[in-house]
Amino acid sequence: MIRCILFDRDGTLGSLGDDRYPATFTPFCPIRPVFEALQARGYTVGILSNQSSIARGTGRGYDFDAEFRSYGADVWRICPHDTADNCNCRKPGSGMLLSVADELAAPLRDCIVVGDRLSDVLCAENVGATGILVLTGKGQQEKEAALAQFPSLTILSRFDEVIPYLDQLEADTTRIP
Ligand SMILES: [Zn+2]
Repeated sequence: MIRCILFDRDGTLGSLGDDRYPATFTPFCPIRPVFEALQARGYTVGILSNQSSIARGTGRGYDFDAEFRSYGADVWRICPHDTADNCNCRKPGSGMLLSVADELAAPLRDCIVVGDRLSDVLCAENVGATGILVLTGKGQQEKEAALAQFPSLTILSRFDEVIPYLDQLEADTTRIP
């Protein structure tokens, strides 16, 4: 039973006007109503964001906590490292997901990670959670490689599509044959 929906930020919840600067973020559609709709259905909603912008300096001082709080997110993690730091939190590493699952005492099989990159899918699938690819951001570019590795991968056009997707999933699960 899916309990926890974790979204990537850049390319998934919205796009950046300038890739280097997290402050140039514009949501693809209003985020808070989507989060509220999920929470009303009983899901815990969170954000897992790679922010090498912090390691590089361009994201330093940006208040991610305030932003994520304004969406009403229940939980979030930010990786402040760059690839060269070899941390275990930067996706495709699963460190942020494991940390959230631990905090919520949620089994990994009950967690979904929604993102526009294969690295988001890997972060989930490598530890027994479910990855979903969205076609915004880098999604179109990453789709082929992601499907090659995960032929039954769920692909959605945009992050808010997760609501009808979960409604269908729920209907399928509860249907009595
Ligand atoms: Zn990290």
